Amino acid sequence: MSKKTVLVSGGAGFIGSHVTVELSQAGYDVVIADNFSNCDMTCYDGVCQILGFKPALVEMDFCDKAAVADLFERYPIDAVIHFAAYKAVGESVADPLKYYRNNLASFVNLLEVAREKGCNVLFSSSATVYGEADSLPVTEQSPRKSATSPYGNTKQMCEDILRDSVAAYPSLKGIALRYFNPIGAHPSALIGELPRGVPNNLVPFITQTAIGKRECLSIFGNDYPTPDGTCLRDYIDIVDLARAHVCAVRRMLDGEMEEPYEIYNIGTGRPLSVLELVTTFEKVNNLKLNYKYAPRRDGDVVAIWADPSLALTKLGWKAERSTEETLASAWAWEKRLAEAAKMTE
Ligand code: UDP
Repeated sequence: MSKKTVLVSGGAGFIGSHVTVELSQAGYDVVIADNFSNCDMTCYDGVCQILGFKPALVEMDFCDKAAVADLFERYPIDAVIHFAAYKAVGESVADPLKYYRNNLASFVNLLEVAREKGCNVLFSSSATVYGEADSLPVTEQSPRKSATSPYGNTKQMCEDILRDSVAAYPSLKGIALRYFNPIGAHPSALIGELPRGVPNNLVPFITQTAIGKRECLSIFGNDYPTPDGTCLRDYIDIVDLARAHVCAVRRMLDGEMEEPYEIYNIGTGRPLSVLELVTTFEKVNNLKLNYKYAPRRDGDVVAIWADPSLALTKLGWKAERSTEETLASAWAWEKRLAEAAKMTE
């Protein structure tokens, strides 16, 4: 049987590059499309090194409908995974129209073409849609809460666009994966997270502090109603998360979907506090991190973690890597970046 082809929009970024590796290793042909607005060639080069070949790469913008249509003419695309989107919460508050135009227009363009071609679509959503949940862990049935940023709102709106589109067009099916907190790097340390400027997310801030790029980590809030006063999150290993996409693509392409639109939580089901994450990082990597307590950060929820049992039942997926392994991989990646920077000095 000939290989199936999966288009990965935003495939040169953090999550997209890990998904490209897992899909390729599972026997799919991957076409990466990226406009490089928030990444460089580092992860693509790492993907090529891991795989030993170069997956197809097209530099393009999904806001350009003609370019999207052309892409589907050039490649025999069987399924699409859509990552291409802006993702900085603060920037989305400062410039909401930039986020609504880019994240919504690109997704609509993609769906219009996918619908014509009868090609199924996997959308990368986020646990941010649950907001401050009434009860924990959250299942896919838990109510969504109003978004606290335009970025979060684009995730909800794209979910709705996908839901309404599959309801209306029989040629289209879709899956939304709601990611909890993706962290870590590939075990090869050849691909990982590359935040531009000061990282917003916890783990890149930790690794940059450990390497000496940042002076001190601020833990935002230690007076929350949690066991140690810091926020609780469900940190999901990036390779585990990437494997979930392989399971979901297989389900779409093998005709196993039970509903035209399915949603899955992709998390571990284990809450970890910010402080626990920091101390685990110190322990597993045998170092001391400079950190202090700081005021709560606006918009943070107290606690969120997944009930991932639906993904196990329907996708046959569950998280496997331990937090220790994941935090060791994040540190190995940061050290590799530092070595690479030294070589170019
Ligand atoms: N956090 C922190 N210091 C930082 C960055 C994040 O204490 O420099 C905390 C943040 O308040 C939250 C958790 O770490 O409780 C995870 O934050 P992140 O931005 O990584 O992901 P989020 O859960 O906001 O999507």
